[in-house]
Amino acid sequence: MWHRCAVSNSGFSFEITAELGGDTGSRAGKSGDGSGGWPGGGSGMSRAGGLGGTGAGGWVGGRAGVITTPHGVIRTPAFVPVATAAAVKGVTPERMADLGAQALLANAYHLYLRPGHGIVARAGGLSQFMNWPGPTFTDSGGFQVLSLGSGFKKVLAMETAGLGPEAVIAPRQSRMAQVDDDGVTFRSHLDGSLHRFTPEVSMRVQHAIGADILFAFDECTTLMNTRQYQERSVERTLAWAGRCLAEVARLEAADGRTQALYGVVQGAQYEDLRRQAAGDLARLEVDGRRFDGFGIGGALEKQNLAQIVAWVCAELPADRPRHLLGISEVDDLFAAVEAGADTFDCVAPARAARHGAVYTPNGRYNVKRAAYKADFGPLSAECDCYTCASYNRAYVHHLLRANELLGYTLATIHNERFIVRLVDSMREAIEAGGTAFDRLRDDFLNRYFNH
Ligand SMILES: [Zn+2]
Repeated sequence: MWHRCAVSNSGFSFEITAELGGDTGSRAGKSGDGSGGWPGGGSGMSRAGGLGGTGAGGWVGGRAGVITTPHGVIRTPAFVPVATAAAVKGVTPERMADLGAQALLANAYHLYLRPGHGIVARAGGLSQFMNWPGPTFTDSGGFQVLSLGSGFKKVLAMETAGLGPEAVIAPRQSRMAQVDDDGVTFRSHLDGSLHRFTPEVSMRVQHAIGADILFAFDECTTLMNTRQYQERSVERTLAWAGRCLAEVARLEAADGRTQALYGVVQGAQYEDLRRQAAGDLARLEVDGRRFDGFGIGGALEKQNLAQIVAWVCAELPADRPRHLLGISEVDDLFAAVEAGADTFDCVAPARAARHGAVYTPNGRYNVKRAAYKADFGPLSAECDCYTCASYNRAYVHHLLRANELLGYTLATIHNERFIVRLVDSMREAIEAGGTAFDRLRDDFLNRYFNH
């Protein structure tokens, strides 16, 4: 079924092309009666079965769709590789396009510090600057402002069992970033210089950088903050969201250049805060401007990820896209797609590659291990990537051991292709309908974790 959705600003739109369970009765809980059939109903592989993900919006779940931007379309669900400083580390944009990347996500904080958003603007915007003709996102910098000096883990889906606060918040946090109701004062991770981001500054920086999709400036808390702090933070992020909308409306009116703006839902692991934050952002409208989509941010406990995404998606309007910030573990991706997230980004495939960790359908292995020194097979026999077509394990093993930059490049191409292709297969399964998605998830995860 096709739902034609309103174009919310010039050049940006989203339409849903297929929904999980939309054409069969195979998925329990579809009617939204609150019986708790979804997510995880009927699947032995889903984590935390019986979550009861129904909410004010009725049954919620995965969908396939198309995001249209001025630089082209993104067919969703889609994995969006990270090009933090306007580059995917070690891989050219052409090669990223070849491996199936539909969009790239850069970071406003990094580009603000270096080379400066004015330079990116003078180059003609992010897409021109990095020679990537497709759609682009910029993260607001909120997470980096609060994390780079404070030692958050970069991957936000975290195992917290056994972790003390010292594992999540580094001792220097209070000196590196100071949050108040107006914004954040922080020191550059490059040279220690003092800077201040407010919602208005973040919007001006992102407007200058010129990505197709921007994120509102939010306060990113950790799981170690108190409930009371999380409540204050959600209020602060909502107030900042309104200021972001007002500033973007002003900037767009000034130069006529529109961009899609996503509000970011925080609220940590608390159901009431997550639902409240999502509902408030969905309803928010300032100077005739509302959010074109939503980011789901903040630290998520891995075991609660599907549930948190389901709470949030239940409160968000179906006709606007949802981006889950910073996850890429395969079980998290399945859970998040099933819960209704449309796009994802994460540095993990590239970072893992640089350490020699290689994804395969049989799980991850480290190609730097001695066992691969004379293994002349591809990184994965089932992979269709450039690396696997032309190079073998022994060579990549050698390059990584010798710290040759080409090793990073080849391993990164493989890992990015693996995750992009996996999420593509989820989209195809949703479009195929019936039990295709359930079968894909169960077969894939069973093999990946139990091989
Ligand atoms: Zn490969």
